[in-house]
Amino acid sequence: MGEMTESHSASIATLLHMVQEAEIIAAFTGAGISTESGIPDFRSPGSPWMRHKPISFDLFLRSAEARREAWGRKFAMDDLYRGARPSQGHLGLGAIAESGRMPAVITQNIDGLHQASGLKEEQVIELHGNGTYAKCLACGRRHEHDWVRQCFDADGDPPDCIACGGILKSATISFGQAMPEEAMRRTQKLAASCDLFLVAGSSLVVYPAAAFPAFAKENGARLIIVNREPTPLDSKADLVIHAEIGPIFSKFIA
Ligand SMILES: [Zn+2]
Repeated sequence: MGEMTESHSASIATLLHMVQEAEIIAAFTGAGISTESGIPDFRSPGSPWMRHKPISFDLFLRSAEARREAWGRKFAMDDLYRGARPSQGHLGLGAIAESGRMPAVITQNIDGLHQASGLKEEQVIELHGNGTYAKCLACGRRHEHDWVRQCFDADGDPPDCIACGGILKSATISFGQAMPEEAMRRTQKLAASCDLFLVAGSSLVVYPAAAFPAFAKENGARLIIVNREPTPLDSKADLVIHAEIGPIFSKFIA
């Protein structure tokens, strides 16, 4: 791991060349780009996320007790990762975006680190939502976590929407919750129109998100996969690099 063999250097050169040649690039990121920011992959053994049974969306809606539990866990997690900063991977993709040839990064992550690296909101398509703020499940109004927490700490209960009294939930997509339509639609459109689909740090095992690289390939795009572990789509890709994300994508930072 990490040693610069000749074939590894050649692969990186090919990556740089393919990115340079592309006209419309769709980047697709997963947990592997944020582990280097200190946020563990939630599916990995020993992850704090694995300590508890997930609270389903249905249970969250039905039970005030489940909502208290969910928010308590959420704030505990926020305390662990409060200091997380964009990695070399986030910054490298940000540098590619500056060329104007990458309309958006599609991400399975909920940590908001692509935005923190300088991408605009509309340049980030979040397939699993965003864990850095709350949304009203009735009217969709955004509420900041700091405010939700102040209320939670004072009352022992999460507050209701200040506009409509609806239930507030972290703006992530929970188990049992529908995928966000707008994000899915934008992803499909970009996957169909791009000429390079660039995967960085996703194991491509969580569906339906993991179907998009194959869809892009079927629509004529080149497919590059950079991930530490092999993925089920490696055999379809034009280029596969099994490595940490940061050292590879730092090559794009001027
Ligand atoms: Zn509301």
